[in-house]
Amino acid sequence: MAERITVHLNGAAIYDIVLETSFEPLVAEVEKLNVKNRKLCIVSDSNVAALYLDQLTNCLAPCCRQVDSFIFPAGEEQKQLSTVNQLYETLILRHYDRSDLLVALGGGVVGDLCGFAAATYLRGIRFIQIPTTLLAQVDSSIGGKTGVDFQAYKNMVGAFHMPKFVYTNTSTLLTLGDDQYLSGMGEIIKHALIKNIDYYEWIKQHREEVLNRDLKICEDMIAKSNHIKRKVVEQDPNEQGERALLNLGHTLGHAIEKALNFQMLHGQCVAIGCIAAAYLSAKRGHLSMDEVMDISKVFQSFCLPVTIAGLNLDFDQIVETTRSDKKMDSDTIKFILLRTVGKSYIDLSVTQEEMKEALSWLQGGLNES
Ligand code: NAD
Repeated sequence: MAERITVHLNGAAIYDIVLETSFEPLVAEVEKLNVKNRKLCIVSDSNVAALYLDQLTNCLAPCCRQVDSFIFPAGEEQKQLSTVNQLYETLILRHYDRSDLLVALGGGVVGDLCGFAAATYLRGIRFIQIPTTLLAQVDSSIGGKTGVDFQAYKNMVGAFHMPKFVYTNTSTLLTLGDDQYLSGMGEIIKHALIKNIDYYEWIKQHREEVLNRDLKICEDMIAKSNHIKRKVVEQDPNEQGERALLNLGHTLGHAIEKALNFQMLHGQCVAIGCIAAAYLSAKRGHLSMDEVMDISKVFQSFCLPVTIAGLNLDFDQIVETTRSDKKMDSDTIKFILLRTVGKSYIDLSVTQEEMKEALSWLQGGLNES
């Protein structure tokens, strides 16, 4: 059942993504890193640690000299330099050096924060990713983007730092809350929309199994998404071009997320943003309105929001937020649109008026005309 996907950079194999259904095979992966006489620090948040820290510690103890842990309270608000400072302090007091290893056990918050600490502590130490949310398994653990928020600004401070490997134990999905699980589906449907119409159809066909968290189907789905993300980051590791395609749904989605003060989950806002992008793609003649409605139905079938009806949103403020987004190129917004379902491109011509028109359409409940 296990699957292994290798991520390359400049033609060289850099790290593997290993998909398993338990933690047991992790031992053999960690042993390959020559850590027998090294220290290993598991970084996790309070929720994930309560579920998996003991199991993981017991599993890893035989393959290294010492297992430590650094646990911080769960939540995006902890993804700050102050938490990284505490982690640095732990590592310094326990005499971690560059040959030791950090283990990120958790969702995207843990992975981003631990990866950033690994990128910067002693100018870089090794780390591995053990993603435990669907979003982290298909998205944040892959590609080497690490970082923390700076005050109210998301992901403003960061570094590219590749993990030694990514180890996905799909059974961790079974303890994930429904909202978090379905939020991950927002990114997964996005993957299909930007790159692969067959995958889009596959998602529709396997809806029941996915909703029931059938682990075999989940593994297939995660592997399909991992392949899409792998290909994109291999072509553009430092996000200079092609990688921007992964931002489908993020320009307006992120601005809505911010306007709602992060009360809606990321994947939910990405769903809304993708539908707005599909609408704008239809306005440019690339998609039919039937296709736009089909896309909205797919998101809806995974209990993701597809309109902003009833939400008290200030469109001027949302459009203004898109201008301060990291997805800007000089003064131009790099908006991702769909050429067809399964094929995306970077559009530099989307105007503020068009964005507001898409928002009005979303607010009006997706009028098909
Ligand atoms: P998260 O890490 O906050 O996890 C969501 C919640 O689920 C948390 O409360 C966590 O404790 C809990 N949880 C995690 N795994 C669990 C499990 N198996 N069982 C029960 N509870 C579990 O959120 P997320 O959605 O995984 O990640 C969001 C973060 O990822 C954001 O900070 C975002 O900026 C970042 N991100 C980074 C990248 C990247 O390329 N680096 C890409 C996308 C998102």
